[in-house]
Amino acid sequence: MSKPTYYITTPIYYPSGKWHLGTCYTTVVCDALARFKRMQGFDTYYLTGTDEHGQKIEGVAQKAGVTPKEFVDKQVDTLIKLWELLGISYDQFIRTTDREHEEAVQKIFTKLYEKGDIYKAEYEGWYCVPCESFWTKTQLIEGKCPDCGREVILTKEESYFFRLSKYQDRLIRLIEDNPEFLLPKSRQNEMLNNFLRPGLQDLAVTRTSFKWGVPVPFDDKHVIYVWIDALANYITALGYTANDPSLFNRYWPADVHMMGKEIVRFHSIIWPALLMALDLPVPKKVYGHGWLLLGSDKISKSRGNIVDPVELSARYSVDAIRYFLLREVPFGNDGIYTNLSLLSRINSDLVNDLGNLIKRTVAMVVQYCGGIIPEFGVVEENDKDIINNAETMLADIIKNMDSLLVPEALQRIWSLIQRANKYIDENAPWLLFKDSEKAKRLDTVLYILAECIRFVGVALTPYIPTTAADILKELGLACPDNFDGLKAFGQLKAGGKVYPDKPLFPRIDIPKELESMERRAAELAGDNSKPEEAPSKLEKAQIAIEDFAKINLQVGTVKSAEKMPKADKLLILKVDIAGKERTIVSGIAKWYTPTSMIGKQVVVIANLAPAKLRGVDSEGMILCAENKNGDIVVVSPESLVESGSEVR
Ligand SMILES: [Zn+2]
Repeated sequence: MSKPTYYITTPIYYPSGKWHLGTCYTTVVCDALARFKRMQGFDTYYLTGTDEHGQKIEGVAQKAGVTPKEFVDKQVDTLIKLWELLGISYDQFIRTTDREHEEAVQKIFTKLYEKGDIYKAEYEGWYCVPCESFWTKTQLIEGKCPDCGREVILTKEESYFFRLSKYQDRLIRLIEDNPEFLLPKSRQNEMLNNFLRPGLQDLAVTRTSFKWGVPVPFDDKHVIYVWIDALANYITALGYTANDPSLFNRYWPADVHMMGKEIVRFHSIIWPALLMALDLPVPKKVYGHGWLLLGSDKISKSRGNIVDPVELSARYSVDAIRYFLLREVPFGNDGIYTNLSLLSRINSDLVNDLGNLIKRTVAMVVQYCGGIIPEFGVVEENDKDIINNAETMLADIIKNMDSLLVPEALQRIWSLIQRANKYIDENAPWLLFKDSEKAKRLDTVLYILAECIRFVGVALTPYIPTTAADILKELGLACPDNFDGLKAFGQLKAGGKVYPDKPLFPRIDIPKELESMERRAAELAGDNSKPEEAPSKLEKAQIAIEDFAKINLQVGTVKSAEKMPKADKLLILKVDIAGKERTIVSGIAKWYTPTSMIGKQVVVIANLAPAKLRGVDSEGMILCAENKNGDIVVVSPESLVESGSEVR
């Protein structure tokens, strides 16, 4: 019996600028779906790629002083490396500059022309270059592009047109009669009310004002409009019009076209109309997800967010970034990325909930059972709830994933994680261990926990595959390629060893990390402006000589020095100033060992009001110079002077 098929696509990405976290969002979501469907037993095909033609690419390449092909080659190379890094399990990466694709687009164009669905006429209209979209005058909002709000240009040229208007009624029925075709539902009304019901106009599908595109095969003054070229990728990738259409026959129509909401119009109107014109079935589902917005932290609006996915993956691991993307954007709404939201997710979900469960359980199996997974034993009444939670999890996740509710699927897995953490506290294995009559009960409790971890590891495999593998490895298990292991509780074999490992995700010191991220974001943005304190230091207000005279600066000699206990930055110095010894606490321990300070002459602000630092009274302060990178150098007289000498 052949498996059911599942064909899923991302949009093909426009390689005109830097790849950022937003580009990764759709791709990671589709990856999790594809991995999930494979484990569910579907014959899955996952397509992604790049949309490389058009006026905008021609323009940026020219600016960069390279040919369009050279420009896109480099961009695509970076993108493929990014997908490798993020573990994207696509089955095919299509480029619209692939020869097979270009030939197929020409065949499609010719077929539609011969059928009469494409005709030649004069075109006058408004064109948004960044969006590559044509607009009629009435569609413009205050004379600007209704999609992006930028300036549009009036173009008048000879063009080929696609008879989009002919398909208006069929498109309205498609959306009205198939409530699952376009999701979320809010998009259905948007398409019906804003575009379909007011009436569709025929669509200009070629341009003559630039060259970077697929030429019309029988009229090479024209290149085929980028959206037809791009949309066709979903079938040309499968070999539609090719000598071997076996992939096409196997996977078309697509199960899901996934995309950001800004391009839903092309996928739910133009694309099905083209397919209707080609007498092909339309995709089963078009899903326009919300955006990942780049917000600013509440703590300080000036904080820069790191949005480079490579940088973020290097700092926090690929799976932390995958998890954040999959978890943070709610169904049909926008999600917000901030440094703080990322770090909070990592600490609360991955470190506290998931990491703690694994660490505590494995440590207890080591401590109480000699590292051997104990026997399941007799289930008590208060075990039933957690076992039920585990056993019903797969059905719940499948339901969520079938509705493309990825964050909800993860929440469902977390409900088992949180239940298991609570189960530890309820059953207090450390107390059971002390009572020799409860040895059997201890075995059962620890077995149930280990088995829950196995459930969690298997369930997380499509979402954070590396972490899932690490979790299962601690139980001596390999990553599964299906969900059979989630069908019944108690499959974990007793008598196997556990393999304790380092924590899955290190805990993050959030305030410290935010500062570091802010500095790094500024560097990445090529922003030379320093954090706020720095310029203010240099731009202190002028003072009168009398003000300076208020400061009593004296040279002192360091007699002894020691590290402040439990404070790795501080040294406690005993400084002799004209025969009187003072205690001064100084934050220089990172740069000076205690012994390197002994005998050194330093400049002391002798009349500074005393302050308590970590319980030690500091009587004054020694002067230091701070390098741009934050390194500290102690200021010392150029040659030896008498202790107590005044500095002025
Ligand atoms: Zn626009």
